[in-house]
Amino acid sequence: MKSFKYSTAKDATAAVRTASANPTAKFLAGGTNLIDLMKEYVERPSELVDLTNLNLSQIRATSSGVSLGALAKNADTANHPLIRQNYPLLSMAILAGASPQLRNMATNGGNLMQRTRCQYFYDTAMPCNKREAGSGCGALEGLNRIHAILGYSDQCVATYPGDMANALYALEAVVRVRGTNGRDRTIPIQDFHRLPGDNPSKDNNLEHGELIIAIEIPKNNFAAKSYYLKVRDRASYAFALVAVAAALETRGNNIKRARIVLGGVAHKPWRSTEAERLLIGKPATQETFEAAAEAALRDAKPLQHNGYKVELGKRAIVLALQRAMSGEVA
Ligand SMILES: Cc1cc2nc3c(=O)[nH]c(=O)nc-3n(C[C@H](O)[C@H](O)[C@H](O)COP(=O)(O)OP(=O)(O)OC[C@H]3O[C@@H](n4cnc5c(N)ncnc54)[C@H](O)[C@@H]3O)c2cc1C
Ligand code: SF4
Repeated sequence: MKSFKYSTAKDATAAVRTASANPTAKFLAGGTNLIDLMKEYVERPSELVDLTNLNLSQIRATSSGVSLGALAKNADTANHPLIRQNYPLLSMAILAGASPQLRNMATNGGNLMQRTRCQYFYDTAMPCNKREAGSGCGALEGLNRIHAILGYSDQCVATYPGDMANALYALEAVVRVRGTNGRDRTIPIQDFHRLPGDNPSKDNNLEHGELIIAIEIPKNNFAAKSYYLKVRDRASYAFALVAVAAALETRGNNIKRARIVLGGVAHKPWRSTEAERLLIGKPATQETFEAAAEAALRDAKPLQHNGYKVELGKRAIVLALQRAMSGEVA
């Protein structure tokens, strides 16, 4: 590991001031992703600004929904009564991720910011445009079984690996950020992560030095009928090959509102408004679910080794919708 300067921040504004003054500084939260990457020489910050002492761990009801502190632990968030009762989709998604020990350390802000699990990104002997601009993409013509089938570019075919964000996209959350000018701004979750385009080094739309302080989720009527389905190589402690965050609001057997977000298929959680349009106003039947699943994967362009994700994605959507309708909890 390369040596680095270490500092602690007394409040959010001070943390932003310190990090933004140094172009190679990084925030340190639970450290479960950043420290691994530093040990592999993938991340080489010259300074770590430790956030641990900041007062950003609250999970509280607001007039419009709920606010999750950026430093609240994933485990505390998933198990909080407000979340279990009103946003079970989020609880299911967080509990599908990592392991109990990791969820006890990992924070909500860090989870949104976690980096891809592309093997070439982790191996500094390999070309990777995300790690080193202009070096090439090892996965494009290499082993790409876990990679993207939607929204990728010839510069990068990586996927965003997280689970929590897939649920947050379905719940239309908003990310509250302390800006480098000391003022707060909000970013709709849909605009938080980005597609690789010609600049894959940038995973999201945060500016250097900006600090996530909270994630806000509006009220909704999805609690009774939502489901997070994660398909992976092992039953636990593995990233999604394909994941589906499905949420329905129904009147009788008719679908009034729907949200479908796929994980493990693109550089960001992939919300399918095409699938949602096909669900709204229709009876909640197998036929309706299958039509929505077809629409969600219609534009998929698999790589050499991940063609299986297209059919898997369709089946996962249908199953997630069936389980959402039955009120099952993962
Ligand atoms: C073996 C293993 C398995 C895993 N499996 C899964 C899984 O199945 N599903 C899943 O979703 N995740 C999984 N994870 C990832 C894990 O959830 C993340 O490592 C964790 O959420 C990161 O949070 P952290 O607080 O530890 O972040 P850190 O490692 O401290 O930071 C990560 C990044 O976020 C930045 N950052 C942190 N907080 C803020 C903030 N408030 N504002 C701005 N930037 C910030 C840091 O600078 C850094 O760049 C796994 C991790 C491991 C090691
Ligand atoms: S897919 Fe992206 S992260 Fe993986 S090697 Fe290519 S550029 Fe790097």
